[in-house]
Amino acid sequence: MKNLFLIIGAPGSGKTTDASIIAEKNDNIVHYSTGDMLREEVANGSELGLEIESYIAKGALVPLNIIVNTIVSAINNAPVANVLIDGYPRSTEQMIAFDKLVEKEDNIRLASVIEVRVSEQVAKDRILGRAADAKPGEERSDDSIEVFFDRMKIYTDPLAEIQAFYTEKNLLTVISGERTLEEVVEDMEAFVKSKI
Ligand code: AMP
Repeated sequence: MKNLFLIIGAPGSGKTTDASIIAEKNDNIVHYSTGDMLREEVANGSELGLEIESYIAKGALVPLNIIVNTIVSAINNAPVANVLIDGYPRSTEQMIAFDKLVEKEDNIRLASVIEVRVSEQVAKDRILGRAADAKPGEERSDDSIEVFFDRMKIYTDPLAEIQAFYTEKNLLTVISGERTLEEVVEDMEAFVKSKI
């Protein structure tokens, strides 16, 4: 049985960094970022990777079947029982698709959905800071001001519906991402551990 935590947050909220530190510190927790998994596929140079890159470069969402396959195989292949996935769901379509899937799957329990909340200004400052600090060859194709606003809109448009859906199921927890990395990690880690 896999205990699943979905972590959502604006681009620049720090969700990937927070979750990867928690997984590094705990042998019984593993972490996958949808963005990282998709970028790995792009780096593989496969045909699927080329298709994925065309969406990422624009800041657009990759199609439903691609992202669902990506996360389901990550969960099923996870080497330990507690799995953090950040970056999913990003649309109501993804949320509904996953809800149906979890209902059928005896092997997956959705333990919680954690929203890492930051203001748009903080998100923007962090993303533009990340673009300025990137080493040559490590730049992300989507860390630019133009793409930032598209990604932010894609994040915020379905957010109220996603929040309402998981609040109704008593599964939503909001954590403030506008604190030091250590504080956010400590808070998220304590919460995750309380649920496993
Ligand atoms: P991130 O690293 O989380 O900011 O994601 C980078 C990019 O990967 C996004 O802008 C999308 O193009 C793609 N992506 C990440 N997560 C998802 C998802 N749940 N659904 C569709 N596309 C995604």
